[in-house]
Amino acid sequence: MNGDASASASASASKRIVTVEQVLACDTESLTGIAFRCTCGQTHEVAIRAMLLEDGALLRTYDLIERLKLGRKAMLLADVASYDAAGRELAGKLRERGMIVAESVYPQRQLYADEKALAKALLDLEPDADMVIAVGSGTINDIARMISYKTRIPYLVVATAPSMDGYASTVSPLLVNGFKVTYGAVSPVAVVGDLKVIRQAPREMFAAGLGDMLAKLTALCDWKLATAVEEELYCDVVAGLMLKALRRCVDLARATETGGEQAAKTLMEGLVLSGIAMQMIGNSRPASGSEHHLSHYWEMKHFAAGKKTQLHGIKVGVATPVVLALYGKLLEADIAAMPMREKTPGQIADWERNIRRCYGPLAEEMIRTNRALLPDQAGLDARHARLAARWEELKRELRAILAIAPDAKHLLRQAGGPVEPEQIGIGRDELKDALLVAKEVRNRYTILQLADQLGLLERYADELAAESV
Ligand SMILES: [Zn+2]
Ligand SMILES: [Zn+2]
Repeated sequence: MNGDASASASASASKRIVTVEQVLACDTESLTGIAFRCTCGQTHEVAIRAMLLEDGALLRTYDLIERLKLGRKAMLLADVASYDAAGRELAGKLRERGMIVAESVYPQRQLYADEKALAKALLDLEPDADMVIAVGSGTINDIARMISYKTRIPYLVVATAPSMDGYASTVSPLLVNGFKVTYGAVSPVAVVGDLKVIRQAPREMFAAGLGDMLAKLTALCDWKLATAVEEELYCDVVAGLMLKALRRCVDLARATETGGEQAAKTLMEGLVLSGIAMQMIGNSRPASGSEHHLSHYWEMKHFAAGKKTQLHGIKVGVATPVVLALYGKLLEADIAAMPMREKTPGQIADWERNIRRCYGPLAEEMIRTNRALLPDQAGLDARHARLAARWEELKRELRAILAIAPDAKHLLRQAGGPVEPEQIGIGRDELKDALLVAKEVRNRYTILQLADQLGLLERYADELAAESV
């Protein structure tokens, strides 16, 4: 493979150096373990070393472990459902080949990646284990990733459902003190998905995965906005990979094949690719925007209230059409005629009151962090000037992304997913609150910040809470 000297110098020795052309032409499995010097000026690297996505992949997992030279002693982490779906069979197959496999299986139906779950995995882990094998989807993966990070024992993921895009992620969203905190962690060394297992996943898991893919519509739009207003770095190559995967998933969803042979592979590929894109950029920007912030806010509220929470992708799927409607409104706005004004002391007091009402015990920390982020008038003027100068071009680019799935809500409904906030226990008041304060969940520029800076957020939140979006 050819590549330029700077990419070779910064990439670790184990990475294959490839070109942008090769990246754009190859399939998802070939994007593992690579490094390339990109047209955006950065060198992108993918830490995940292998991906195995096919029928019967469980039978080939041992060969993969051998090829990656991971060792012979494993701890298999699963919940009861994922253990039944794939964990028991995999443990048996690995033992047949002479591996020593300890098991740590959570009995809960509703498992959270919180302090208690982390402690159980740590207690079950032998210090001389060579690897952790996470069999499951979101929560199991988040726990394994953190354990692997803290113990430096590598982990691989055996996916059991196409329900979320975190398989190849390098961050672990955990619930700590009831607050969702995203920790930097490590990449799995490999992702394995046996399509025979994945096809058996409940229909709800497919709807969730489709929700997490459709979320890329608004996540990618938010990224575009951030490049215009905040001068954040944008990468056409990585965004292009995401758009291609999104289009494929949308085409399949339109063909009503959800759960079918090709759909399971395409959806899983899109979801794993999202994680690979995050690795290339170094954060979750290509895959997560304001729709994820709304979902995180609802999750925190439900967790605090002791209510059962829905799958991540289901909540994100409900939040995405809300943000799509928000984009519909923003694209009609006359930006040039709307200056950005620094908040008055009265407005800041109202904002603080709102944060306290919505976030309870977490509020003070959020106020402290987010107040420091509020730009002054000169900062706002500069942002407005950048936005106004690019607005017509930006609108065209945003519309081109949104045009991939103007029927997103319909596709989700067709896949069997809930689409109205009420269907997942979110009242209209919680929808409005989320629109107003979800931007404080994390420091990432999205349409929510932009609408706020333009003085439009309250009006939009009122309108969206009043109408069915
Ligand atoms: Zn997600
Ligand atoms: Zn790039």
